[in-house]
Amino acid sequence: MTYSIDRSAFAGGTSSASERCAESLSVIQRRADLGVFLHVDDEGARAAAAESDERFAAGLARPLEGLIVAVKDNISVTGQPLTCASRMLEGFQPLYNATVVERLSDAGAIVIGKTNMDEFAMGSSNETSAYGPVRHASDAERVPGGSSGGSAVAVAAGMCHVALGSDTGGSIRQPAAFCGVYGLKPTYGRVSRHGLVAFASSLDQIGIFSRSVADMQQVFEVIAGTDPMDSTSARDVPSLPEMPAQPRIAALPLKQLDGCAPEIITAYTSYLEKLASTGAVIEDVELPHSQLWIPTYFILATAEASSNLARFDGVRYGLRVDAEDGDITTASRTAGFGAEVQRRIMLGTFALSKGYGEAYYTKAQQARMLIRQSYDRVFETYDAFALPTTPTTAFRLGEKSDPVSMWLSDYFTVSANIAGIPALSVPFGRDDKGLPIGMQLQGPMFSDERLMTLAARLEG
Ligand code: GLN
Repeated sequence: MTYSIDRSAFAGGTSSASERCAESLSVIQRRADLGVFLHVDDEGARAAAAESDERFAAGLARPLEGLIVAVKDNISVTGQPLTCASRMLEGFQPLYNATVVERLSDAGAIVIGKTNMDEFAMGSSNETSAYGPVRHASDAERVPGGSSGGSAVAVAAGMCHVALGSDTGGSIRQPAAFCGVYGLKPTYGRVSRHGLVAFASSLDQIGIFSRSVADMQQVFEVIAGTDPMDSTSARDVPSLPEMPAQPRIAALPLKQLDGCAPEIITAYTSYLEKLASTGAVIEDVELPHSQLWIPTYFILATAEASSNLARFDGVRYGLRVDAEDGDITTASRTAGFGAEVQRRIMLGTFALSKGYGEAYYTKAQQARMLIRQSYDRVFETYDAFALPTTPTTAFRLGEKSDPVSMWLSDYFTVSANIAGIPALSVPFGRDDKGLPIGMQLQGPMFSDERLMTLAARLEG
């Protein structure tokens, strides 16, 4: 279901936002087995759709009138619970809308519900949710990717037009690739994080899942922009020249694709050929320091998480468990957080602790500078960098049982968060089991629109 097509049908009176909304609700109900939603606002969505129809009829349609959007359950929507898929926040009702939600609603979009995710956005498979996993729409024994797996499946299965997710190290792009939809992680600071529950604040960005580039462009235009409520929101966004007709694109040499499944390598090669056929000039570029991507990410992300999640202590926020010995905080955190979240808090606390902080956290900050600089150097010459989104297609539920093999599946995505640059996952072909494959375009800071233009040239 593509919004740009539906919208012209709504405006032309051949179909209505109310019909579309009813269809979405019935798909959500029919595919409840996929575990996609943690909350569905049936009544609110129908009422908003009826208002959209009135506005279309009166010629008063707003820019995203009738757009049906699903929102990851770590983004605040008033009137709907917010759990981050954790027992810790069970029953929590937020008091304000995230800025992105406010902007979407003002533009006429309909928030249909909150999507399931890995607990506190930590994971790559959607198996760490305290409310059960999300399943892949075309093979229920496989994972949809994570942590925004619910949002990816919602779009892939036609439960909404577009969905919002958050991406700290790949949580939009990886599930988008696994599910065969577009996924954008914007430049750090282009989209407000106000109302997003923080995981690793220097890496987190809210972004978009869609079935077409046009849908993504329209939604991005509405949600991007300075927000006084977010002190990291970008204030002086340069307007870059259009993507040239013959862009220069850096590609990873095949030897840097070690560990990739053969079908990913084949798809990558043909993606580069397709780019070249539209006039792009492709050159192999060895990106230095790629061996630092994963360790740097996991030290920074866990360190920041250990600090951000300290607020969930059973006193100020979250689940409260009264302990016999009076240690409410330990009892509440033990009961409220799942194993992956506890593991990350412990690792992060260690990485920041006296005596080890220098060896781990400070080192990771230095590595972050090197990674940024290596990208800066590439983008002095090239307009974009093309690479696969994931080393494999969707894996089986339970297949990656040790945390390290799960973490390694983020190899191609974490560096964009470390550098703060925009990155877009584009659906490109399928493997021999029919599972979708995703390719990724990264660009210099603030080149979000240019990347979408480039992706649009290859659409279809
Ligand atoms: N999979 C990565 C992790 O587990 C990324 C998560 C994310 O982007 N929120 O940390």
